[in-house]
Amino acid sequence: MQSIKKIPNGKEIVECEICLHNSKTRPMFKHAGKKIICIECMNALKFPRNFEEMEKEVTEYLDELRIKNNKYNCILGFSGGKDSVVALYLLVNKLRIRPLCVTIDNGYLAEEAILNCKNITKHFGVDWLVINKDFTKFFKETISKGESPCRICSSMNMHEIWQFARQTNINTIVTGHELPFGTTAIREMKKNIKMLRLLSVYQLTEEDRYEILKELPWKNPELGGYTTNCLVLAPALREFRKKHGFSFEFDRICAMIRYGLMDKEKAKSALKCPEFSDDVYEELKKRGLNLKELE
Ligand SMILES: [Zn+2]
Repeated sequence: MQSIKKIPNGKEIVECEICLHNSKTRPMFKHAGKKIICIECMNALKFPRNFEEMEKEVTEYLDELRIKNNKYNCILGFSGGKDSVVALYLLVNKLRIRPLCVTIDNGYLAEEAILNCKNITKHFGVDWLVINKDFTKFFKETISKGESPCRICSSMNMHEIWQFARQTNINTIVTGHELPFGTTAIREMKKNIKMLRLLSVYQLTEEDRYEILKELPWKNPELGGYTTNCLVLAPALREFRKKHGFSFEFDRICAMIRYGLMDKEKAKSALKCPEFSDDVYEELKKRGLNLKELE
């Protein structure tokens, strides 16, 4: 049994040796008498992800889907961003799965992202469908309150896709998420619909993904921050930082380091306030979201 000791919260700030958390942001522990780590990293070590097992589970699941002779094996949540494009590449080229690509256009996808959707689906010869929604009110509310819109926006998107899955009886939704649900890539949603986070199995680094994208008719829209489709993210990060002094991406980026998907140096630069042109504010205003007015 390895010894794990909680480090009492003192005046001195202790940093996690794995991720970027410190004793101000998370409880810290001394692991096996040497490494100082935060509670999140400790849990990750306690319940390690078995990527071989996860891949086996996903492969078996997809084998079953492929046998069913449906027109579409699954829905792919498709934003035209780098991760969903890589997920489509894997589905078609590596896994021989026939997806129906579904884009939830909440009114704030970059024009270039829509163009990427169009070019990429054409390249792979797969069907693509857009569902239009308007998240203006939601973005106004969360950003003016100094909150991060991302988590809720993403679950609202997922809800739309889930509803579409129900209506069309396509019971599997694949996404380009890179972090699994705990130790599995597949989660049961309501009404017997399953969600599969495809990229959580293949552990592709940012470089691996760009290597794949290089060969495809995909252009980086350069929107600031890590996003390659959303117009709201970079301004939302900036507004949040003004109020709170840190990035709302902090926890997610710590998880990326923890699972070896990003090194610490890259993570630190990813946490800086993103650079983007003022045209983004103009574009948002044109679409109904005037962030300058919210100040
Ligand atoms: Zn940590």
